[in-house]
Amino acid sequence: MSTASINSWCLTSVSASKKSLPALRPSVFASLNSSVSPPTLIRNQPVFAAPAPILYPRRGEEMGNDYNEAIESLKKLLSDKEELKTVAAAKVEQITAELQTVSSSDPKAFDPVEKIKSGFIHFKKEKYDKNPGLYSELAKGQSPKFMVFACSDSRVCPSHVLDFQPGEAFVVRNVANMVPPYDKTKYAGVGAAIEYAVLHLKVEYIVVIGHSACGGIKGLMSFPYDGTTSTDFIEDWVKVCYNAKTKILAEHANSPFPDMCTQCEKEAVNVSIGHLLTYPFVRDGLVNKTLGLKGGYYDFVKGSFELWGLEYSLSPSLSV
Ligand SMILES: [Zn+2]
Repeated sequence: MSTASINSWCLTSVSASKKSLPALRPSVFASLNSSVSPPTLIRNQPVFAAPAPILYPRRGEEMGNDYNEAIESLKKLLSDKEELKTVAAAKVEQITAELQTVSSSDPKAFDPVEKIKSGFIHFKKEKYDKNPGLYSELAKGQSPKFMVFACSDSRVCPSHVLDFQPGEAFVVRNVANMVPPYDKTKYAGVGAAIEYAVLHLKVEYIVVIGHSACGGIKGLMSFPYDGTTSTDFIEDWVKVCYNAKTKILAEHANSPFPDMCTQCEKEAVNVSIGHLLTYPFVRDGLVNKTLGLKGGYYDFVKGSFELWGLEYSLSPSLSV
């Protein structure tokens, strides 16, 4: 039996059939603390801080009345006491909203827990269990040859697009696949990833991959940067590649805006690669020829991928 954790979950086996997988999602008449036996695959523990389920009495039981009787009682009350109509109207509105919430939780509705659970089961059965050699090697450690910067966009997962297998690529994903310049204070997260990839994993290539229809680049091209802001983080983050915007505005000033964005998606990759040169351990790797830098562009509209290198010259730092 193998064990894998997802957040606070623990999936302890995938050998059981789907029949043994009771849904954990609280429903109208069940709660996480019910007396139902814990499911085979997942501990009967709360996973997310989910809102408390809306509980309704079972029809004809706790209520001790049926729907028609309840309505008639309400009508009688309101005919006897006109002054309650406003209060009643508000309560009916509230109940209607709650019932709509309940009806939206029908079995056909999106169930995030079931999606994640079935996804992991599929992976475990079809990939993990069928490649014991690969996963036993990965249990010992990783030595990926690539570090990849890719956008957080849900359509451009590099492992999917480039068929990277587990252990092949050390990946950083962020809005618009940007590499900021070396800055210990502002960009420690990205810096730590580059440092770890280059110095400890000793990756051989860093690849920065842009993509078509990138919302982050569209933002970079759209934001006025005139002292006003409309976002908490996005404008400041994509400004990391502001030089790309400047170049595109200068060289493609008469192009339609979508074309400028496409050009900027590629130019921002070049700017990011330039920023990689501000990291001393990246420069050392290039000088020693243990590290290479590549730019890439995935066009998911056309279904194409470009890969390019950059011309640059570096010399070892001299100390006299
Ligand atoms: Zn993007």
